Amino acid sequence: MVLLDGKKTSDILQAEIAEEVIHIKNNQGKIPHLAAVLVGHDGGSETYVAAKVRACEFVGFKSTLIRFEDTITEAELLNCISALNMDDDLDGFIVQLPLPKHISEEKIVEAIDPRKDVDGFHPVNVGRMVAGMPAFISATPFGIMELIKRYHIETAGKNCVVIGRSNIVGRPISILLSQKGIDCTVTLCHSRTKDLKQICAQADIIVAALGMAEFLTGDMVKQGAVVIDVGITRVKSDKTKSKWKLLGDVKFDEVSSKCSYITPVPGGVGPMTIASLLFNTLLSSKHEIYP
Ligand code: NAD
Repeated sequence: MVLLDGKKTSDILQAEIAEEVIHIKNNQGKIPHLAAVLVGHDGGSETYVAAKVRACEFVGFKSTLIRFEDTITEAELLNCISALNMDDDLDGFIVQLPLPKHISEEKIVEAIDPRKDVDGFHPVNVGRMVAGMPAFISATPFGIMELIKRYHIETAGKNCVVIGRSNIVGRPISILLSQKGIDCTVTLCHSRTKDLKQICAQADIIVAALGMAEFLTGDMVKQGAVVIDVGITRVKSDKTKSKWKLLGDVKFDEVSSKCSYITPVPGGVGPMTIASLLFNTLLSSKHEIYP
């Protein structure tokens, strides 16, 4: 069994990006610039945004954090987005989700200029990805594909089961895995799927993205399968200093002994996410998606 080390792979990807930034700097080009909009004080969002800002510093990007109280109106946030869309110094920006209930996430995401949508959530980028055109691909699916590629995991003709059909993970990864050049035969499963256990037991590759701790058990996985665990559930624990621990969607001890490759939680898909966002920003600064 080989552990798909997301932390190590993310470090490599970030080092590659940092090297390219030095090259851009030396050639007197403009340093890539990413902005993040954070509304309110949600603990999870604060942590994610802080990690993104730190990662920008690490690779040598310029970063800007724009903070608003959660009393901001939808109209005010839309005004901010239109200013960011027009800011020629910015290569890309993200609006950290979730937003307060009185603000429509759909409206906000649609207001972002697709050319600066480095989170890849805008319908234009989603549509381009589906059509196989150059697009900003959202960070988690992008990170999973990068792990698969960098570990040279064979995909052509393989049976792949994706569990979960969310717009940010399950659905896009099912599309990417079925694309020409990757060539998996994909089954997309969800909460209404029947006989999930039998479906999983046929799979060469399983992507578990449903958000239920230790859902995928050893009896659902065939010998030699590749298992990608996207889930992150925080549960109480007496064994850690913080009294919390993170669990994936896969019962690791049971499943790992049957796998050819498996991602750990933490340290698997999670660390790839930020590196993917940086990569999208680099692509944007080079006008590689939208020339
Ligand atoms: P979501 O709640 O939006 O979607 C969950 C999906 O799972 C739904 O499509 C639902 O139909 C399906 N589902 C629920 N119960 C099921 C069942 N019993 N059998 C089959 N399918 C079932 O979740 P999401 O935003 O896609 O996130 C999924 C998990 O991935 C969460 O734990 C989340 O924290 C994690 N996540 C991790 C990263 C990362 O960087 N590692 C990024 C995004 C999400």
